[in-house]
Amino acid sequence: MPGLIDLHTHSNRSDGVLGPGALVARAAERGVTLLALTDHDTVDGCAEAQAACVGFGIRFVPGIEISTRWRGQAIHVVGLGVDAVATGIAAQIDDVTRRRRERVLAIGERLATRSRLPGRDIAARALEGGGVPTRMHLARSLVALGYADDTQHAFDRWLNRDRPGHVPVEWPELDTALPRLVESCRATVLAHPHRYRLSGGALRQLVTDFTAGGGSALEVSMAGMSPGDHDRLASLARRHALAGSAGSDFHDPAVPWNPLGRFAKLPDGIAPVTERIADS
Ligand code: AMP
Ligand code: MN
Ligand code: MN
Ligand code: MN
Repeated sequence: MPGLIDLHTHSNRSDGVLGPGALVARAAERGVTLLALTDHDTVDGCAEAQAACVGFGIRFVPGIEISTRWRGQAIHVVGLGVDAVATGIAAQIDDVTRRRRERVLAIGERLATRSRLPGRDIAARALEGGGVPTRMHLARSLVALGYADDTQHAFDRWLNRDRPGHVPVEWPELDTALPRLVESCRATVLAHPHRYRLSGGALRQLVTDFTAGGGSALEVSMAGMSPGDHDRLASLARRHALAGSAGSDFHDPAVPWNPLGRFAKLPDGIAPVTERIADS
């Protein structure tokens, strides 16, 4: 029986909870046989995950999820089969990591001045793990220090747009970041297209721009996608001759409705992105 695949996962090298080795062990337990680690703006966990996959007989795909900006919105692109050594995106990774650190400190300051929270402590705690710091780390700090019931509450109360701790970031523009990623990877995937707050027309334009920039696939199968999302994305992929990718966007084993390797199968007529990342 062919195993499960999962081409979008996070470890504690960014905002996931498990270390790369523990993530792989969990994937093995679930029956995943092809796994990509796609941490936010870093490939740091890939060597450990790769080594762990050898032990479990899992095929490993080194990956990354980069943060970009398109029409002022944050848009994520997953790179699969990233060449972590000869990578044309190394400078971008360094730049984004620095911006992320500065943003965590700025959010701490803002929470202190606007809401009289212990912003420095919240920020320091978020930076403790040493991985790429994200707003999820701040959300966890806010929960740990008693300012939110859970991470979603922390986003809703403190971190989202129009909340006291909102600090926008200037991610690299999609039209400069994508070609660099394309050069460094076997395949590039527009991540979770159904989650962006875009009109139908704007989403079509985003996919047109993504294709023009050399992008190769859309994430068409994820947990939490409605049947309508699934159909809309399948027809967009077909129209642009893009491949389809499937991943959980797994972060945390305590979130039971989003396990590794479970989502609808790829729609008919969509080429699996796995064909483009196969070992040569
Ligand atoms: P960021 O630092 O802005 O890239 O956000 C980091 C991570 O926080 C994202 O990858 C998601 O895992 C999570 N996240 C972002 N926005 C929200 C939100 N509004 N609610 C819950 N989680 C979020
Ligand atoms: Mn995340
Ligand atoms: Mn994402
Ligand atoms: Mn993700």
